[in-house]
Amino acid sequence: MSYRPETLSVHAGQSPDEQTGAVIPPIYATSTFAQISPGVTRGYDYTRSGNPNFTRLERALCALENAGFATVFSSGMAAVTAVLSTLSSGDVVIAEENIYGCTYRIFDTVFETFGVRVDYLDFTREEQVAQIAGRSPALIWIESPTNPLLKIIDIRAIAAIAESCGADLIVDNTFASPYFQKPLELGATLSLTSTTKYVNGHSDCLGGAVTTNTESWHERLVFAQKAVGLNPSPFDAWLIARGLKTLPLRMRQHHKNALAFARQLEHHAAVTWCRYPFLPSHPHYDLATSQMTGGSGIVTADFDLSLDDTKTLVSTLRIFALAESLGGVESLICHPASMTHAAVPEEQRRRVGITDGLVRFSIGIEDVEDLLDDFDHAWSSLSR
Ligand SMILES: *Cc1c(COP(=O)(O)O)cnc(C)c1O
Repeated sequence: MSYRPETLSVHAGQSPDEQTGAVIPPIYATSTFAQISPGVTRGYDYTRSGNPNFTRLERALCALENAGFATVFSSGMAAVTAVLSTLSSGDVVIAEENIYGCTYRIFDTVFETFGVRVDYLDFTREEQVAQIAGRSPALIWIESPTNPLLKIIDIRAIAAIAESCGADLIVDNTFASPYFQKPLELGATLSLTSTTKYVNGHSDCLGGAVTTNTESWHERLVFAQKAVGLNPSPFDAWLIARGLKTLPLRMRQHHKNALAFARQLEHHAAVTWCRYPFLPSHPHYDLATSQMTGGSGIVTADFDLSLDDTKTLVSTLRIFALAESLGGVESLICHPASMTHAAVPEEQRRRVGITDGLVRFSIGIEDVEDLLDDFDHAWSSLSR
């Protein structure tokens, strides 16, 4: 069976219910499962360690990423916790310096206190990438595109370095989504997704997942799911499986809208720079188009504005909701310095380029002309 992504996202793991024929699988709202005799189950015993709704979602995610194994969690951060819980005191993690704010925070305030050392490097600079192997990392942690600067990291090249020094490479694939980028095919050991974002796509629940082709990693992740208590609810797994069916359709519209939006914004008088992976002006455009099949829906722009004016601008839009998160059908706008990256110390924030005028747009699937009109309206009220 070698169906294409559009078919897989509708059907993989989503066959009709065996018992009743229900085309849409039921929600197995149960904490526990009756056993046939002590220790003999029908495949499930307790929902913390497995539920048919998890299995269905895991099958769908495996199919989309062409992966051997998937494990689902209650959120992207639960997936991050699952991976980090496999480390030991003394282990070294090398992370890209522009990682998601809450991943930085869990390294800094939780796992570093347990003796895990995390070093940060700029993975777009050759002389820094050359330092990775010498530090003997257990894990190399990257995102691509990064949040919110949309740097593109060369996943194939980092995977080769990981292999050469016996480290495992994990790619947080949330921004690209499994539709536009397949980290395992590019050489990563683990691909992590906050399914809260594009995979679910409807901003109505949280979820996370990790896929891998390495069986020992799968065992460790399943163990973390039940031992650390990181499982999702059956209802949320069902919602995410429902959202995932339209992932390809939505991603194509996100890409089309975001590209058109970025093209307009990049010529705007008040914009210092506007970044979108599939804009030819993006500094890593060739790399982006070589490892992704679309640019996703995030556009980042740096406005030549004060902190207060930037805050006014992002609050004046009508269609764009001022909110954290991304990847839903509706457009959102976010001011990283005061929102998603408020947890990152100011000095670190400035060093990685998160200025007061930086704005991140999560472009939804609305008509892009309406989105552009909304921006123009907000801009003209600010200028007045
Ligand atoms: C949102 C996000 C996470 C965390 O996911 P939650 O579902 O909010 O816990 C991790 N990484 C990236 C890149 C994200 O955007």
